[in-house]
Amino acid sequence: MEKILEVKDLHVTFKTYGGEVQAVRGVNFDLEKGETLAIVGESGCGKSVTSNSIMRLIPTPPGRIANGSIVYKGRDLTTVPEKEMRKIRGVDISMIFQDPMTALNPTLTIGDQLTEGLKQHKDVSGREAKEQALEMMNLVGIPSPEERLKQYPHQFSGGMRQRMVIAMALICDPDLLIADEPTTALDVTIQAQILELFGKIQERTGVSIILITHDLGVVAKIADRIAVMYAGKIIEVGTKREIFYEPQHPYTKGLLNSVPRLDIEEDDLIPIDGTPPDLFSPPQGCPFTARCPFAMEVCDKVYPDSASRSTTHEVDCWLQDRRAQLVSPMEGTRK
Ligand code: SF4
Ligand code: MG
Repeated sequence: MEKILEVKDLHVTFKTYGGEVQAVRGVNFDLEKGETLAIVGESGCGKSVTSNSIMRLIPTPPGRIANGSIVYKGRDLTTVPEKEMRKIRGVDISMIFQDPMTALNPTLTIGDQLTEGLKQHKDVSGREAKEQALEMMNLVGIPSPEERLKQYPHQFSGGMRQRMVIAMALICDPDLLIADEPTTALDVTIQAQILELFGKIQERTGVSIILITHDLGVVAKIADRIAVMYAGKIIEVGTKREIFYEPQHPYTKGLLNSVPRLDIEEDDLIPIDGTPPDLFSPPQGCPFTARCPFAMEVCDKVYPDSASRSTTHEVDCWLQDRRAQLVSPMEGTRK
């Protein structure tokens, strides 16, 4: 398989009046062509900051990519000049946000907005642009596209607007699509349709997808692999099967137990007690220690090594490490 993205030891910080927030603290992952990776976690865990870093959309200052690399097809996006980055953003990597209204311009017709990227980045005639726009609208399931092209965003329903945003993101044929909570603003039926649409698009175009979400239901539908983030770190990563059926990290298990499922009564759902740590001065050990029912003495002092359970399944937890009971906190293996 062809690897298209490799994120290594990514650290992102934000300066605030209260001090520096360490929003992303050493994140590693990669992505293959045609694959969907979901990054899952509670709000504030660093998942959006991670995806915005890939697009280099972190406002600097106050934000800063403090360390690490983001290699996209052999080039480190943390160092390419802004002018080139703009081109990469328009053509190679595109992004879909939660609220379709903010992505659409209310004063321009749908047709103009849809073809804008094409005209800007690809050398196409007006007629070709229109043809491609119609093709995209068909792909994302907009009925009567000829008429719809001349309309304005307010004439579209919420679901149709999100379809348009997806069409806009895809019209330059990107290799990578980053979708940050793409269905959160939509009602449940429309959500399901949009998720189905992602699958169909991937089949047709081979685009790789990074899906950012707090919703494990969304993940279950379309992800190939899942990375679980907590307090700025990926604490477990695996195939969908591994994460749903053999979760290892107590936080992952907690997340799964707090999600409604068909086979579990509503009353049996167990929310995870407590709150994530303050990222102004994150703990040096496992950040889940204060909430973890299995915490050992070492957990609080030393961050665990990543343990590989399979070639695809990795987990950062001392429960995976036989040395946990033996290691004295003072002579830990890391940081
Ligand atoms: Fe719990 Fe320790 Fe594992 Fe962290 S490292 S999740 S505190 S057992
Ligand atoms: Mg977010």
